[in-house]
Amino acid sequence: MKLILLGAPGAGKGTVAKLLTELDGSVQISTGDILRGAVQAGTELGKKAEAYMKAGDLVPDELIMDIMEKRLQEPDCEKGFLLDGFPRTIPQAEALEKLLDKLGIELDMVVNIDVPRDVILDRLTTRRTCSNPECQAIYNVKSNPPKVEGVCDKCGSPVVQREDETEEAISHRLETYNEKTAPLVGFYEKKGKLLTVSATSSDEVINAIKARLAA
Ligand code: ADP
Ligand code: ZN
Repeated sequence: MKLILLGAPGAGKGTVAKLLTELDGSVQISTGDILRGAVQAGTELGKKAEAYMKAGDLVPDELIMDIMEKRLQEPDCEKGFLLDGFPRTIPQAEALEKLLDKLGIELDMVVNIDVPRDVILDRLTTRRTCSNPECQAIYNVKSNPPKVEGVCDKCGSPVVQREDETEEAISHRLETYNEKTAPLVGFYEKKGKLLTVSATSSDEVINAIKARLAA
């Protein structure tokens, strides 16, 4: 399947994407994971992106489009892909339309995961992430802690709070979402591709997607 996952930070895009990869071998493409990996590896891209990310600001569209143009042409995308955290602005969405046209790819749908703000805030302040750039497993101190405190179950690396998950950076990210990314809901609705799911459980989101794909 070829999907875009829309939703505020903390809406569960990453969790839903991981569950969907298990259904049909589609790959998860998270621009946030790619960027954090680049920052930790100290690459040119990482150096350019780091300050924006720390502040909870968006990285410039050109950098993101360079990443995505290459990524979507890798062979593992042939079975399908789940775009998690991209597009994030109207210019990115417009550039993606052109890129998909050029590559002869058609999206199945755009899923808007709609979660109440209080749930989002609670999730983001309790979220912890594996510091290993190859892993980036996600935990929650309340609902899904690692078996050993501070240690990743999957790879043994330290589990940490992301630098952009302080209260200040979180509220800034949510503002940025409302201002820059929320307009994409209307953009894709006009194209007749949108499925909005209001649910806080990722299983409910998965079931709604499966039902729409089968229809
Ligand atoms: P979340 O969805 O939890 O905010 P992500 O992991 O998707 O977090 O993104 C983390 C940061 O990476 C963002 O705050 C932003 O700085 C940058 N980023 C990720 N994807 C994009 C994108 N498509 N456009 C611009 N910046 C991005
Ligand atoms: Zn790990």
